[in-house]
Amino acid sequence: MEKITKILLTESEMPRQWYNIIADMPNKPLPPLNPATGQPVAAEDLAVIFPMELIRQEVSTERYIDIPEEVLDLYRTYRPSPLFRARGLEKALGTKSKIYYKYEGGNYSGSHKANTAIPQAYYNKMEGVRRITTETGAGQWGSAMSFACNHFGLELLVFMVKVSFNQKPGRKLMMNTYNARVVPSPSTMTAAGRKVLENDPDSPGSLGIAISEAMEIAAQDPYTKYSLGSVLNHVILHQTIIGQEALIQMDKAGDYPDVVVGCFGGGSNFSGIAFPFLRENLTNGKNTRLVAVEPASCPKLTKGKFTYDFGDQSGMTPLLPMYTLGHNFIPDKIHAGGLRYHGAGVLVSQLRKDGFVEAKSKLQRECFESAILFARTEGILPAPESSYAIAGALDEARRADLEGVSRTILFNLSGHGHFDITAYEKYFEGNLPDHEATAEEIELSLNQSAVPAV
Ligand SMILES: *Cc1c(COP(=O)(O)O)cnc(C)c1O
Repeated sequence: MEKITKILLTESEMPRQWYNIIADMPNKPLPPLNPATGQPVAAEDLAVIFPMELIRQEVSTERYIDIPEEVLDLYRTYRPSPLFRARGLEKALGTKSKIYYKYEGGNYSGSHKANTAIPQAYYNKMEGVRRITTETGAGQWGSAMSFACNHFGLELLVFMVKVSFNQKPGRKLMMNTYNARVVPSPSTMTAAGRKVLENDPDSPGSLGIAISEAMEIAAQDPYTKYSLGSVLNHVILHQTIIGQEALIQMDKAGDYPDVVVGCFGGGSNFSGIAFPFLRENLTNGKNTRLVAVEPASCPKLTKGKFTYDFGDQSGMTPLLPMYTLGHNFIPDKIHAGGLRYHGAGVLVSQLRKDGFVEAKSKLQRECFESAILFARTEGILPAPESSYAIAGALDEARRADLEGVSRTILFNLSGHGHFDITAYEKYFEGNLPDHEATAEEIELSLNQSAVPAV
């Protein structure tokens, strides 16, 4: 048989639709609730901060949603993304298993986030929005939105989590280059930010706080809307282009995954690759395991509680039914900034509760070790976030070898780490401590984050 290492699709083979898992979920997700009334949120309530088309997608039960031509045009500049057989990595491990990865770092933003930034900017533009506010952790999302907004002629204001703002000046400059304004969060621009700073002037910030700041600004101006890079159903919908392509590519390779692995922040890259394969499980008799890997310092899926909670720190969002560590949870300053979010998206939360997806947590040093092995054998320097997926894939290969079987493993390499080189430096210097959130910390945060009874 011919030796295959890189599986490419032509532009005309690129899927033209996103896949909506809600259509196939045995238990539909619970509705978001208005915290004041305890009643399901009406679409009009969300219209203050999101354009109508994204709200429609958020609640849609249609199985497939067409990707607009203008979005496809930009997708074509970097999609379809390649799928690789990790032959170098397999050899270094001496594994009998086959390891494949889908590479989402080969675009202007360096991560999968471009896949949703482009349609979000597009739909806002179509509905007459002039300015978008958003948050960014490590900076990938802000970079993704900066270029997309500039392309469609929208202004962008980014609240960047302060610890990342200080760790990654390169990301800020990149966003500025794409014409965005970047403010470290917590900031004095908003009531939410000022309140945090009053209590803790040295607050490192968190995604939850930055979301509150961005939403507050958007809610004040009819021509400004807010945009989120993960967690929400419409974001996850847009990311399914990854798995839709991967299904075709695995078929071209003459293979099918026994297990699909993704790192987990709010759930968008994991869901993006996993949900089309989950569809095949649910509707087509397949039996692929789907494994989300999250940091031990921010372990919502493995140690959080399934409950209604706010998506942001100051309680501006609707209440969402999700696995959460409590909206006041401030994760340790691990370098995988994109994974420092207190909750898991509603869709993954329901599917995890119902046993359709698995989750595990990992300490960061093991993940950096895996990333370095990957860099040395495959040549791509992974984003620290993506290293959790690599470590998860290595576990699967090692376990299969212990069991004396060969498995087909597919993981999502969600981004490259060219802006994260100082994190690698810290690792090499031995200055990257492991940190695990304790049961007491989580318990305390959940108690402090208690939300109105619903
Ligand atoms: C943002 C980000 C993540 C985590 O977010 P998800 O929504 O869980 O995918 C993972 N990897 C990279 C490279 C990111 O930029």
